[in-house]
Amino acid sequence: MNIVDLYRDGEPVISFEFFPPKTERGYQSLFETIRDLKQLAPGFVSVTMGAGGSTRSQTVELVIRIERELGLTAMAHLPCLGSEREEIAHVLDSLQAGGIQNVLALRGDPPREATDFRHPEDGFDYANELTEFIAQRGGFTVGGGCHPEKHPEAESPEADLANLVLKVEAGAQFLVTQLFFDNEKFFDFVDRAREAGIQIPIVPGVMPITSVGGIRRMTSLGGGTIPPELDAELARIGEDDAAAQEIGVDWAILQCRELIEKGVPGIHFYTLNRSPATRRIHQALLEGGLVQP
Ligand code: FAD
Repeated sequence: MNIVDLYRDGEPVISFEFFPPKTERGYQSLFETIRDLKQLAPGFVSVTMGAGGSTRSQTVELVIRIERELGLTAMAHLPCLGSEREEIAHVLDSLQAGGIQNVLALRGDPPREATDFRHPEDGFDYANELTEFIAQRGGFTVGGGCHPEKHPEAESPEADLANLVLKVEAGAQFLVTQLFFDNEKFFDFVDRAREAGIQIPIVPGVMPITSVGGIRRMTSLGGGTIPPELDAELARIGEDDAAAQEIGVDWAILQCRELIEKGVPGIHFYTLNRSPATRRIHQALLEGGLVQP
């Protein structure tokens, strides 16, 4: 299934993101999570890949297994930084041989504190270069990442948007955003993207908060600012992660309701390989008639 066709359907497309677990037990629990979330009839699911290809074979195997064993459309994330062209071509060959049709073309980030991260001469520096490579090669629907609150390394929102235009011109057919907690920042970004001539679907990425420490760490790394209202709620509960999860689910429900009411093409849930929070958010959307059973 070509993902971009799903976004043309009119109904919001629900998708779930997973990462390759490190242990056999992790795989068992991930497959339970995916089976559980499959009941919510997602349009597709996606699997991340570590930069430099650190989980390359696991990601490839996982997306192929998800399609074959669970009958879901699965998209592979493909970060390019730290990989040679030939390695990227090999990944694409393996995905194609396994029947995978959708790829999210990303730059990736060198691991923090990594001093020996390699930058091969014939590699790609930016996601638009990888996007062009995949688009010219053919055989895949290519998506890209985008950053409503500006990528942390970009000089300005304008410069970041100009680079995003290059990615779309290179062949990106839809965009999925970095997580954010303030819908106004997303709507403002979409308006600016449309003004810059980007017409492809822009899909919000939503992550329900699972722990106070985790969310503070993530936002400090450029994962979306926390609006004052949400910040005050989190400050009130200290380090109580169970309370943070409740606040996170309620906040994500409010976010998703407004996003769908205002006509987003879909919602991409960063599930962190767990289903309960995503399930509760989906249930609330279902009860509000905002998604189809
Ligand atoms: P790019 O689009 O290349 O942008 C990176 C920076 O370079 C920006 O500041 C941009 O303005 C600038 N730039 C872009 N093009 C050019 C150019 N031609 N010339 C000069 N400057 C340029 N990371 C992983 O490692 N694995 C994953 O599976 C993964 N999944 C993700 C999924 C989503 C939906 C998102 C949004 C991010 C994901 N990431 C993943 C993280 C992502 O790799 C990082 O956010 C990374 O820092 C930027 O990736 P990008 O593809 O947006 O980069």
